[in-house]
Amino acid sequence: MRERLLVGFLLGVAACGTAACQLAEAQSFGDSAGPRRTTDIELVADSELIAGAIQPGVTLDGMFARYDVVEGDRQALIAAVRAVFDVRRMRVGQPFVMDRLLDGRVRSFEYEIDGDQRLRVGADLSRSFTAAIEPIAKQVTVDAVEGRISRETPSLTQALEAAGERLDLALALADVFSGELDFSSELQPGDEFRLVVERKTREGAFAGYGAILAAEFVASGRALRAYRYAPHGSRPAYYDEEGRSLKRFFLKSPLKFEPRITSRFSSARRHPILKYTRAHNGVDYSAPTGAPVVAVAPGTVTLAGWTGGGGRTVRIRHSNGYESEYLHLSAMHVRAGTRVSQGDLVGKVGATGLATGPHLHYGLRKNGAYVNPVVEHRNMPPGEPVPAVELAAFVSARARLLGLLQATALRAAD
Ligand SMILES: [Zn+2]
Repeated sequence: MRERLLVGFLLGVAACGTAACQLAEAQSFGDSAGPRRTTDIELVADSELIAGAIQPGVTLDGMFARYDVVEGDRQALIAAVRAVFDVRRMRVGQPFVMDRLLDGRVRSFEYEIDGDQRLRVGADLSRSFTAAIEPIAKQVTVDAVEGRISRETPSLTQALEAAGERLDLALALADVFSGELDFSSELQPGDEFRLVVERKTREGAFAGYGAILAAEFVASGRALRAYRYAPHGSRPAYYDEEGRSLKRFFLKSPLKFEPRITSRFSSARRHPILKYTRAHNGVDYSAPTGAPVVAVAPGTVTLAGWTGGGGRTVRIRHSNGYESEYLHLSAMHVRAGTRVSQGDLVGKVGATGLATGPHLHYGLRKNGAYVNPVVEHRNMPPGEPVPAVELAAFVSARARLLGLLQATALRAAD
């Protein structure tokens, strides 16, 4: 009890920072406490909890000096931190908490590296510091979410937003079905989806999504289902009802999300800038400048540079004689020779070269000749199935996940 009172009081002090401010806080606390004032002041004897955030242009040493940490502890603290963490990776605005004795020695220092990890430094009785990086404890719950594509919510982002969810979940769901559905052109009002996802919380507040465990998408009357399953010794992946991988050789589109086809592949069309008819060797996707462009399949970058009309252009060579190309980029994130996996970022949408505005021109060649990427992507066979020896295990995992998915449907029907 005594300890809790002390911490509560000191946290109040810590929030304001300067010595003058601390005095004012102490004063007002004393006033409101009325006759108990003397008792409360006795509690202050030990240490101060100083909470703050990393400031721009201040070194760790400068920061410790600002909070009156004694010279010897400053050096020892920094040495302990350096043993486990690169101090240059400390980010402005990230919170820290320091427990400092009133004589300027430090009992502990904690810095939040990111949403998942914290750096903790503690002093032992002999005044030597030990630092460690620890995971931040989070609760994980499994939740069902559902939504509907409508005239008011025509995109996956909007439909999920209407269901109270965030962009990350829309991206993750689009990823699950990225080999099956082009979220740019294939969504219709009336399409429905539901999914089961892990939701992380930290001290009661939302702290990000975990994995999508199962999902169902009914698009134009066609029901697609995805079950997350990890075959023995492999990473988890998504499989359909029959245990076939949902990962295709090609993604449905090189834009992560919600592009709109503004010009289709054709053997003859009037070029909007050159004003004469010539073949359109790919598809144009309307997308804002800066939208991420990803590799449609694993491969090796053969070109990342300027081509006349194409502006900043990336070309990737894949197996089976395929080569994909991404034109008019505002930025490139790969170099010639880079090995990329399917879905890796290769650049950002732009309007470089001959382009009337920001868009992505995406082209695909097979054995050197341009082919219609939309048709080619659609015709690729389904991915690898769950190994036959594991089919029984997959079927029982599928039944469990289907139960979770259907529980949502029942709840929605209530
Ligand atoms: Zn084009």
